Amino acid sequence: MTFVIRFNSGLFNEGAFAVPLNEATRYETLKEAEDDVAWLDDVNCVLDLSKLPEDFQVHESHCCVDHGCKYGDDDCPVVSGQIKQLYDCEDCVNEGARIGFTRDLVNAVRELVNLQEKYPAEFEQIPAVFKTRILALAQPLFNYTKSQ
Ligand SMILES: [Zn+2]
Ligand SMILES: [Zn+2]
Repeated sequence: MTFVIRFNSGLFNEGAFAVPLNEATRYETLKEAEDDVAWLDDVNCVLDLSKLPEDFQVHESHCCVDHGCKYGDDDCPVVSGQIKQLYDCEDCVNEGARIGFTRDLVNAVRELVNLQEKYPAEFEQIPAVFKTRILALAQPLFNYTKSQ
């Protein structure tokens, strides 16, 4: 049997880093994986790879959390957030830079809000960092708008 560690983000572990499933560290025993889990944050579960559907990685390569499952599966692991997509899908590419930037910004703000909910005390102490981060994320959008 082979095991991988899955994070809440839908990514998997490679040492201390979160990576797509195809790059994830494989553990031969559950014990080995659980030893690593002990010092990692935001772990969703230890996954037995033999229990994954065969087409798991097909979804990872083609489906999109914003544009849906390319195979029309109701339980698409990308759409449900079980795994993170590897690439921008065709629709991502076609929708153009402006919409892409806007969506990235919305997602980034959503991530920050999640962080703020999780670590409220830290965010209260560093409102300037919060603001700077938002502005940095928004910069490509401003540049794009100006050049129109
Ligand atoms: Zn899918
Ligand atoms: Zn897409």
